[in-house]
Amino acid sequence: MSAAAALDELRDALGASHVDTSAEGMAPHLTEGRGLYSGSAIAVVSPGSTEEVAEVMRAASRHGVPVVPHGGNTGLVGGGVPTDAIVLSMRRMNRIREIDALNSTMTVDAGCILQSVHEVAADAGRLFPLSLASQGSCQIGGNLATNAGGLNVLRYGNTRELALGLEVVLPDGRILSDLTALRKNNTGYDLRDLFIGSEGTLGVITAAVLKLFPLPRQRVTAFAGCADPHKALALYDLMRGSVAENLSAFEYLPRFGLEIVLTHADGATDPLAGPHAAYALLELTSPDASANLRGTLEGLLGRAFEDGLIEDATIGASETQNLALWRLRESMSEMQKFEGGSIKHDVAVPVSRVADLIDEGVAACLKLMPDCRPCPFGHFGDGNLHFNITQPKGMEKAAFLSRWPDFNHAIHDIVAGMHGSISAEHGIGLVKREELKRYKDPVALEVMRAIKAALDPQGIMNPGKVL
Ligand SMILES: Cc1cc2nc3c(=O)[nH]c(=O)nc-3n(C[C@H](O)[C@H](O)[C@H](O)COP(=O)(O)OP(=O)(O)OC[C@H]3O[C@@H](n4cnc5c(N)ncnc54)[C@H](O)[C@@H]3O)c2cc1C
Repeated sequence: MSAAAALDELRDALGASHVDTSAEGMAPHLTEGRGLYSGSAIAVVSPGSTEEVAEVMRAASRHGVPVVPHGGNTGLVGGGVPTDAIVLSMRRMNRIREIDALNSTMTVDAGCILQSVHEVAADAGRLFPLSLASQGSCQIGGNLATNAGGLNVLRYGNTRELALGLEVVLPDGRILSDLTALRKNNTGYDLRDLFIGSEGTLGVITAAVLKLFPLPRQRVTAFAGCADPHKALALYDLMRGSVAENLSAFEYLPRFGLEIVLTHADGATDPLAGPHAAYALLELTSPDASANLRGTLEGLLGRAFEDGLIEDATIGASETQNLALWRLRESMSEMQKFEGGSIKHDVAVPVSRVADLIDEGVAACLKLMPDCRPCPFGHFGDGNLHFNITQPKGMEKAAFLSRWPDFNHAIHDIVAGMHGSISAEHGIGLVKREELKRYKDPVALEVMRAIKAALDPQGIMNPGKVL
């Protein structure tokens, strides 16, 4: 490996100002948001075109230098942490290449910030529905590489379902151009799906064709209190069965989670008069401005109340109130920090088992540590929970976090028993690499290793992640 020779070639090809070896320039690329890992880089290289990305990969391949692609570096599993590698920053690749409103597609560089994609789509009267709390800084390439989920999966699917075609630079510098804008295309193996969710281990995504949808003209948001998660699941079933795809979100909060937010978040107030064990935050949207969504929701919540599925509910009377309800849910992760250490899981089970997961998971946590404070919350309607556990009051944070593997195995064993997934949204990265070996089908792991070896025989593409 000759890193110096690779960097000299890249200075010639990209210009010296796009090959940053300064400590200040590299520092933001060496750590990740949870503070669990930090790494080292030999340079941050910022190509401005697909051809320049190919130059980077050719030089890296010639000299055997590892490359770690970086979008917004908002990933939560350590997938972007480099070890003596070139960090390939996609920040300069932020062009909207084309928007075809009639075909409901847009073609974008992978370095486009998600929020800016929303804005350009909205200007064309369309919706790009991927919605994450990190949307102001995460990039489409990172969203694709992690197959991000977010708040609208129930109605529109994960990032995988929102992409039609990809352009990818392979580890040897070849450009795979599959920027199809087709809804139907049966021409052999689906290579797009191979790169989506591959966390930068198979190639660099440089552009994508994204699916667009009609802009919602109406939305109503409700917050309902239930006696337990099983009642919340019955409410979900009633809603889904009655309004089908108009149900665009169905999120779950436990009482403990709401209490944390009410305690620590500025201006947060309890939307309901009394406490309830379980809460559902649900939203109906429609592109039809004349649809009576509010009337429909009021009718369904009335029925849910009569049937004993909910104990109380409120519907946002204005967009400001809708946003206030959403803030309760969206600030939950952040507010947990004020309660000390938090052991986190991001798991999925069939929706029919999600209430069982809460019951069994909470029981397993309390058995491990009777004073711990389980806080399972999240995308209930997708069967996806962020099964977090807050440390007992007064316990040493480090002592609590040292039990992370025990909690992992307890929760992941329950999830595996329900034929679920140990990573619903965030990927494997470094955090779940060992857990993947434990829970993934061994033949599936063999196939993944064979694909990795075929595309990246030198092992230079984001080494040590996923596999
Ligand atoms: C506050 C907050 C809320 C979040 N909410 C959600 C959520 O609801 N749902 C969810 O799924 N995630 C969520 N995340 C996680 C994160 O935002 C997503 O995973 C996001 O998709 C990552 O995008 P990024 O551009 O920041 O990628 P990065 O963090 O830069 O990279 C993530 C991984 O993708 C690879 N990568 C990045 N760009 C490319 C590329 N162009 N080609 C190939 N590989 C690439 C990296 O090497 C790394 O392995 C959240 C994060 C935060 C901080």
